[in-house]
Amino acid sequence: MAILWMDLDRFKEINDTLGHMVGDHLLCATSEKLAEALDGRGYVARFGGDEFVMICPDASREAARAIAADVMEHFQHSFEVSGHNLSITASIGIAVGPQDGRDMDELMKHADVALYEAKRDGRNRAVSFTWAMKEVFNRIHEVENGLRNAIENGELALHYQPIFDLATGRIVTCEALMRWEHPRLGRVPPSEFIPAAERIGMIEPISVWALHEACSAAASWPADVRVAVNISPASLTSGELPRTVIATLLETGLPARRLELEVTESLFLENNRHTSQMLRELQLIGLKLVLDDFGTGYSSLSYLRSYSFDTIKVDQSFMAAIGSSREDQAIIQAVGQIASTLDMETVAEGIETEDQLRHAREAGFNSGQGFLLCPPQPRERMAEVLAAGTGMPIELAAPPPAARRRRA
Ligand code: C2E
Ligand code: MG
Ligand code: MG
Repeated sequence: MAILWMDLDRFKEINDTLGHMVGDHLLCATSEKLAEALDGRGYVARFGGDEFVMICPDASREAARAIAADVMEHFQHSFEVSGHNLSITASIGIAVGPQDGRDMDELMKHADVALYEAKRDGRNRAVSFTWAMKEVFNRIHEVENGLRNAIENGELALHYQPIFDLATGRIVTCEALMRWEHPRLGRVPPSEFIPAAERIGMIEPISVWALHEACSAAASWPADVRVAVNISPASLTSGELPRTVIATLLETGLPARRLELEVTESLFLENNRHTSQMLRELQLIGLKLVLDDFGTGYSSLSYLRSYSFDTIKVDQSFMAAIGSSREDQAIIQAVGQIASTLDMETVAEGIETEDQLRHAREAGFNSGQGFLLCPPQPRERMAEVLAAGTGMPIELAAPPPAARRRRA
């Protein structure tokens, strides 16, 4: 038999905005649609909330996929519910016995794993369970659970990667990059555990910890070196950030002008007035705001118009192909010009080759960061490098072609 576990996408939004009565009617309408789509090939039950389970005896994997496709087809059309015309999509996880599970318990669990995958993969889709998926699922849960105690267990650390002034070769800022050593999984990359922390609501305490750790490290560095801390958009939602930042600066004795916050464009998706006001407040205290990973995801030049960033960091993907791609070269050049006209500093991320370094300098970037110049270092090592006062390890060729205008 096949189990199809279905969950409405963003049902909560409809419930919250149009009220529970409309939500209830939508659930009724959904059950009718499901019965219609199933067309006698199985049974449908509401499992709770906005979740429905379809049980299809004698269904092969192909048959289960066909049923799921029919269900998805039915959701293409909007629902008429209490005078509202509602469009809603659904995600489905499919598990087929006996391959995917030997008993009901296991089949249900695996249909849920597949549903989780469907949601994670962008919703509005049907996904069949695979055993590889289960491994990913288990890892996700191990990572999520491990994170809850990572701070207390002392498993988190910050490494620091210097950012060099491309004209003088001096270190101007060090970016704090989080490292996590999980007792069983070993080193888990931030690209994996930061989103996990966001999902389980742990990003706030982790950000507070990182700010404190980074500011206290920077307080012992030479006075002209700043520290940059990555701030996840999710940790800005509570509105606590300005208070946390001020408290941290006071506790660690680091002047505000030596702290930079790196945020990404996804922050502005919600176009929250509250967020922009908070960022302004932070700039007023004297902090620098950096737009990280510029040029990826939801880039829009309008962010540059409505928020006054001090610095933009062009995403490393542009650097990666700079030698071979005329398009990337043109974009890098143009971004360099826009930033300079808007009086913003520019950082080229991901410099791995001398060729990339040359291109970054030719495009007029103020500073650069990358494995070629210096990979991220543990706190003690970073302090040593800074104390030695060494500049860029690479001989700077001729001075940059056009001397760049700089902010006072
Ligand atoms: P990011 O802020 O864009 O950080 C730059 C990433 O590029 C770092 O990866 C760094 O190790 C890597 N990198 C540096 N030089 C090079 C290079 O020459 N080539 C290549 N290919 N990569 C280079 P990492 O440390 O794995 O961090 C990945 C991302 O995780 C960061 O991207 C940032 O978005 C996030 N992250 C890291 N630490 C934190 C943190 O404390 N808080 C938050 N919210 N996010 C963090
Ligand atoms: Mg960053
Ligand atoms: Mg970046």
